[in-house]
Amino acid sequence: MRIKEGVYWYKEQGFFDANTYVIKDELTVLIDPGLENYLGRRLKEVQADGTDPKDIDVILVTHLHPDHCGAAAGLKEVSGAQVALHPSQREYLDIMAEEAVKFFGFDITRKFSADLVLGEGLSLGKTYLEVLHTPGHSPCSICFYAGDKKILIGGDLVFEQGVGRTDLPFGNTEELKTSIETVSTLDTELLLPGHGAILEGRNKVKRNYEFIKEVYFKAFF
Ligand SMILES: [Zn+2]
Ligand SMILES: [Zn+2]
Repeated sequence: MRIKEGVYWYKEQGFFDANTYVIKDELTVLIDPGLENYLGRRLKEVQADGTDPKDIDVILVTHLHPDHCGAAAGLKEVSGAQVALHPSQREYLDIMAEEAVKFFGFDITRKFSADLVLGEGLSLGKTYLEVLHTPGHSPCSICFYAGDKKILIGGDLVFEQGVGRTDLPFGNTEELKTSIETVSTLDTELLLPGHGAILEGRNKVKRNYEFIKEVYFKAFF
């Protein structure tokens, strides 16, 4: 569903999946393809909004948990898009896949690799997508910030009245706090998290950070 000019949201499909976002510009990027089981359904929704899978140029992931990146290999096959990973994601690619097998007891992420390595940002045309390394929920968590649209795609860093868990392998609560403090300074009108509802409006986003700082920072950090 279209949420802003050139920005689309596809809700997580069910158990153990994640929100997907598409940004259409001169380049079309898809962020967090979700779990592979839901890829067919998700691509139907993307197509219904006028984006053919073959139009997708770049696949990005906010981090390497299978609910976000599980469908990366499958989507690459279908779309022919290139997978662009942050250096921290390249570093943890095999380790996170092994941890997922240990944690879930079976392999749910088909192997994929980086076709491109992300620097500080990615120019999509009109929109420049800033890449911020925001560890805490995982060491390879990144956020994408588009200053012209004032949108933040945050993965599992912050949610509506919640924060990403840090009890999974390589989670780090102190880092999560620092990362939240960093993104909370960005002028954001649309906060697009990896799970749950999106937050619309500068005041709503601001109040959400205040809530998190009040409730979570005091209770858990
Ligand atoms: Zn996660
Ligand atoms: Zn997640």
